[in-house]
Amino acid sequence: MVRKFNFNPGPGVLPFSVLQKVQAEFTDYRGVGMSIVEMSHRSKEFEAILAHVKQNFKDILGIPEGYEIIFVGGGASLQFAMIPMNFLGKDQVADYVNTGEWARRAIKEAKLFGKVHVAGDTESDNYTHLPSELVFSSNAQYLHLTSNNTIFGTQWPSYPETGNVPLIVDMSSDFMSRKVDVKKYAMIYAGAQKNIGPAGVTAVIIRKDMLDKVVNREIPTMMQYKTHVENNSLYNTPPVFSIYMVDLVTEWIKEMGGLQKIEEMNDKKAKMIYDIMDSMPDFYKGTVTQKEHRSKMNITFRLPSEDLEKKFEKEATAKNLFGLKGHRSVGGMRASVYNAFPIEGVEELCKFMKEFAANNRK
Ligand SMILES: *Cc1c(COP(=O)(O)O)cnc(C)c1O
Repeated sequence: MVRKFNFNPGPGVLPFSVLQKVQAEFTDYRGVGMSIVEMSHRSKEFEAILAHVKQNFKDILGIPEGYEIIFVGGGASLQFAMIPMNFLGKDQVADYVNTGEWARRAIKEAKLFGKVHVAGDTESDNYTHLPSELVFSSNAQYLHLTSNNTIFGTQWPSYPETGNVPLIVDMSSDFMSRKVDVKKYAMIYAGAQKNIGPAGVTAVIIRKDMLDKVVNREIPTMMQYKTHVENNSLYNTPPVFSIYMVDLVTEWIKEMGGLQKIEEMNDKKAKMIYDIMDSMPDFYKGTVTQKEHRSKMNITFRLPSEDLEKKFEKEATAKNLFGLKGHRSVGGMRASVYNAFPIEGVEELCKFMKEFAANNRK
């Protein structure tokens, strides 16, 4: 078997050791005589997985008292709707920062439920940087940000101070990739498939006081945060297999040395690629215009022509460097180097980038 170096933006690469463990346990989960996908979500085995993954979250992120961890279906995209459905009244305002496609979609959903104030917006520059200035409304119910803009390759190096305004962050594509100070957030959410597991589950970390701020409107039971909190994510059948895999990935993060080590590795991997780009700016042009806004997860760059970009992708693929084609709204290339992406693959990419430039420069 030859494993590809998988630069896919999502679903993305997962630790090989985790995949092997899943394979080994698949038909007979730890001697139970059944697969994890055949067991009751109320079995003691699954309840143990749920308790274990929540403890791993606490250990890895340092989640303090006063927060709940829940696992819900529907992807991060469902959170775009659940957040305003729960927290934004018809005549109330929420602040959103428009930094890319996912932020835009979050804004679209919020407008269905209340008023949206766009506190910062870089759409006119095709999201090539983060806003230099944010203008908040005086009475926002919350501020919503996208931590890492998967498509456009920008990432907040730090977040604005929001005072008493609850900060809600979509961390789908950089969740558990760097240290965070959880107490600054009212809510963090992340679809699993970018960095912590397979698609199908979204992790939500929510401060308990938010549950008292739910607006007075009819909300379907499944769309209420309270439902999932009060039922320990077991109101209905949760995505058991995805949660099981998130548990294994978080265990891997702990084995790797936690976020301190993970962040160091991610910094190192990203720097290797950006250094190559910066050493040949006439050939590899980063699409992000401000270096301090560059993503450590999704590294986007263009080549001198679209023909060369096609050729780059083709030759890279032949060298087992897979998934480098950029999103159509940016063009060019995108190297997604999530937690589990091995440094050997980054070394291979850097070597290839040097060779390709040498062979194709005019
Ligand atoms: C991929 C992605 C989403 C959408 O996630 P789904 O789970 O497919 O709904 C939302 N936000 C960000 C930042 C993403 O990268």
